[in-house]
Amino acid sequence: MTVLSKLTWWLRKMMPIQTKIAPAMTSRDTSPLDGMNLLLADLDGVVYTGALAIPHAVESITRAAEQMRVGYITNNASRTPHSVAEQLMQLGLTVTVEEVVTSPQAAVRLLAGMVPAESVILVVGGEGLTSEVEKAGFVVTRSADDSPAAVIQGFAPDVDWKQLAEASFALHAGIPWVATNTDWTIPVARGVAPGNGTLVSAVHTAVGRLPVVAGKPEVAIFEEAFARFGTSHALFIGDRLDTDIMGANRAGIQSALVLTGIDRAKQVLAADKHSRPTFIIDDLRQLHEPYPETREAVDPVTGHRLIQVGEAVVRMAGNVVTIEKAGDRFIDVLRAGSAAIWGSGLAIYGLEVDPGLYADA
Ligand SMILES: [Mg+2]
Repeated sequence: MTVLSKLTWWLRKMMPIQTKIAPAMTSRDTSPLDGMNLLLADLDGVVYTGALAIPHAVESITRAAEQMRVGYITNNASRTPHSVAEQLMQLGLTVTVEEVVTSPQAAVRLLAGMVPAESVILVVGGEGLTSEVEKAGFVVTRSADDSPAAVIQGFAPDVDWKQLAEASFALHAGIPWVATNTDWTIPVARGVAPGNGTLVSAVHTAVGRLPVVAGKPEVAIFEEAFARFGTSHALFIGDRLDTDIMGANRAGIQSALVLTGIDRAKQVLAADKHSRPTFIIDDLRQLHEPYPETREAVDPVTGHRLIQVGEAVVRMAGNVVTIEKAGDRFIDVLRAGSAAIWGSGLAIYGLEVDPGLYADA
């Protein structure tokens, strides 16, 4: 093919696509919950922040529960499913204890595949963890002198050096080590504090190896949920790309990132290919609303990619990302910008990005 015929072919190929960019929302636009049988939700940053419900979360989840099963997935190992369910009930949700899946439950499921039934297990952590270890028929110890068959480690506010030292002494014998999760931070009422990842890291420094991890973004916690609720047509909603969305991707289910918690536009635009959500929403009402399709065309004159979501259009010119048309919903601009950047195959640090694309903070 000559250069000229290649160009003609390319223009013909691209022109019809260009004409497809037009209607902002069509009847084909379905909502994120259309066709779903199961809604799985992260808690902090999705359902509540501290003691307060996030606006529209309770009503939107209640409405979803009329049409499908709902489950709650939390990496927080310090609380029992019972206390989590109670808190959710106080916020106005209808929840059973079985609908709450915690990282200790997933960790104990992993443990059961590693050591004989009724083994002695050294526990680093609080009641959220000891209760699950005992429920599974294991014997809890706090001392390496009891020759434990494994160590299980989760966050609790009173985990101290002595507990970390006992874990290290026990692990030097080469026994299995399971961590509920490795979140580096934990949001608490007074701010952000060191999470279980930092405590696991302290033990790792002493023993020179890493644990098997149960919580998001690992799949064990999703497998625990699937064992209870089934797997088909599940949507997971979370507020963190590196745990929630990456975990859902690894578990092979669809995901929605809601911008009411940790990650905002800037993080979305920079998301690597392992932590890109299926849907991006402002708040949980949008689970029930039409989700405009992402349309892409090539400018026949410049060859630039044009990405449209709703009324918003973003232009990708080489490594320059600009807002062509803002429309009236920031979420559409963000979605168009994300599609432009993610589809470019270029790394975020090599791009010139219009600040309007991350003006949500
Ligand atoms: Mg969260």
